[in-house]
Amino acid sequence: MKINKNIIILILIIILAILAILIVTHLNDGNGGAVTNGNQTVYHEVLANNSNDPGTVEVIRNIGNPHGKKIAYVVGLHPLEYQTHRTLVSQLQNMSNLNNSYDIYIINVTRDVGHYGDGSSDNSQGRQNGQNLAYQYVYPQIVNGSYDLAIDIHSNVGAYPYRTFVFSPVNEGLGESYASEVAGNCPDISYYSPESTTSGPYLTIPLNKNGVPAFYYEEYSFASQDVKNEHMVELILAVDNLQFK
Ligand SMILES: [Zn+2]
Repeated sequence: MKINKNIIILILIIILAILAILIVTHLNDGNGGAVTNGNQTVYHEVLANNSNDPGTVEVIRNIGNPHGKKIAYVVGLHPLEYQTHRTLVSQLQNMSNLNNSYDIYIINVTRDVGHYGDGSSDNSQGRQNGQNLAYQYVYPQIVNGSYDLAIDIHSNVGAYPYRTFVFSPVNEGLGESYASEVAGNCPDISYYSPESTTSGPYLTIPLNKNGVPAFYYEEYSFASQDVKNEHMVELILAVDNLQFK
């Protein structure tokens, strides 16, 4: 009888130890699908995946230093510019020792994507689809998300006097100030503000007007991948070292 009691106590201790290990492991993992990397927990979240939408929206949260400034990158408003979008997603996740905390909002237009050379204008349906998804799903997250800065990633076919540049569509605010500082610290990135943008009203203009500084990054669509990578690393490092006001 006494031996049986000891065995039962031993079994209970083992069960408690296993439970404790499971709980600690679960805490470290954060929520489902999380990847723990040092003291940060990066995770993916689906924001929109509805059959009546022209695409999906997801976010990769918490890249970098969770105690730093909170910064959003947005890719995918214009689906044909996907090479530059993918460059941001891969390069940012490759960086180590970042000062700030980054979320990447990824819009993936699946309807009427179009293709280069199809003669579509600036108002092609694929671009409008991406802009609408941005306004419906990404804008509310960023404007209500306590972000210090948002950057909208695009590319262009070379119709501007500069090929690789940053700008804010709203002048004389922090968005313009941060974009100017980034350009000043990057040998290959200029500050150039086109007269108008099609996507500004769906993301960067309302963000700037409602308390979140925001600017565009534009890359040349037909630059080689090596050049895209180099420029993107310049952008990422300059943003990471901004003097926030
Ligand atoms: Zn664009």
